[in-house]
Amino acid sequence: MKVTDVICHVLQSKVEQPFTSARGWLYTTRASCIVEIRTDEGITGWGECYGPAAVNRTIIETQYRSRVIGRDPFDVEVVWEDLYNRIKDYGLTGMTIAALSGIDIALWDIIGRALGKPIHKLIGGAHRTEVQAYATGLYFVDMDRLVEEAVEEAQEYAEQGFRAIKMKIGLGDPKLDLRRVKAVRETIGPDVKLAVDANHCFTVPQAIRLGRAMEEHDILWFEEPISPEDHDGYVEVTRALDMAVAGGENDFTRWGFRDVIARKAMDIVQPDVCAAGGISECRKIAAIASAHGVECVPHAWGSAIGLAATVQFLAALPDTPPAFRPMPPMLEFEQTPNPLRDQLAKDPIVQRQGIVRVPDGPGLGIEIDHAILNQYKVA
Ligand code: CA
Repeated sequence: MKVTDVICHVLQSKVEQPFTSARGWLYTTRASCIVEIRTDEGITGWGECYGPAAVNRTIIETQYRSRVIGRDPFDVEVVWEDLYNRIKDYGLTGMTIAALSGIDIALWDIIGRALGKPIHKLIGGAHRTEVQAYATGLYFVDMDRLVEEAVEEAQEYAEQGFRAIKMKIGLGDPKLDLRRVKAVRETIGPDVKLAVDANHCFTVPQAIRLGRAMEEHDILWFEEPISPEDHDGYVEVTRALDMAVAGGENDFTRWGFRDVIARKAMDIVQPDVCAAGGISECRKIAAIASAHGVECVPHAWGSAIGLAATVQFLAALPDTPPAFRPMPPMLEFEQTPNPLRDQLAKDPIVQRQGIVRVPDGPGLGIEIDHAILNQYKVA
């Protein structure tokens, strides 16, 4: 089998109720670069790249596309190394790797479709057939109702059956953050897990101080307390707090994660399959994490394709550590309204009582709705 074409689709949808996080970007649109890879056997695979879609598309079209055409999709890691070698001299991190991730995922989708097997059966097998999802939400929308809106949204997720929720913090006022976290914890009660995500807005002392104050609210993990470049700072925050510290959605490749993991700068690393190098590379990152006793719980923030790729990867992740009643890695299931996530697959991934069934169809286990693809395609 040979690749005959690599096509990028830039999809974009409008966000009806714009929201923000501690980063301060106002989300008014959601966009994704979707990668379609066609073959001479009529099998088509789909992938997705995290980050600025137009840049991903340009990198693929100018740097990668011609090197993928003519290749056998089963040589997926050979292709990975070749593409990486093509760009490594010019700066390694970020968007070039996200673009490579979309190609890698699409090649795995093709392999699965060719063999009639879901991807997780090709990368080690099913450690689980369903995953527990946590609801990502509780962004900042109405600046006059920051506590009230968080309470209402958390209540909705709890009523939908989610057993874990992740909320945004980083309001520029630790007392307000604490008040909001306390109100959410009181609303959902002691049995729903609660993680917090600061989108790297704090200094080391700010993070340690707020982290200690949040500990009484039984926080599952403190995500991105400080800036991702500051690995020394992560070591300090992680050592200082009893709660787990997480991060890594803006780290890339096995080399990017190697030092973070080896130094135990975080208790939980969160590679994104659409950003960190695809399924091939995230397996390697997970292996490094496993060797160091660090948990790997992938980040996910994209369309139905990225979500499906994350579920396939998660299904094949071992429990860390294995146990009589293990605490398996959870699926990040982002809940802000996004038609690219909810409508792009004919058979979308859904949660029931906080549980997502791992699709067992071939490849990613989803079928793309071409009408939706065309409806949201802007380039
Ligand atoms: Ca995050």
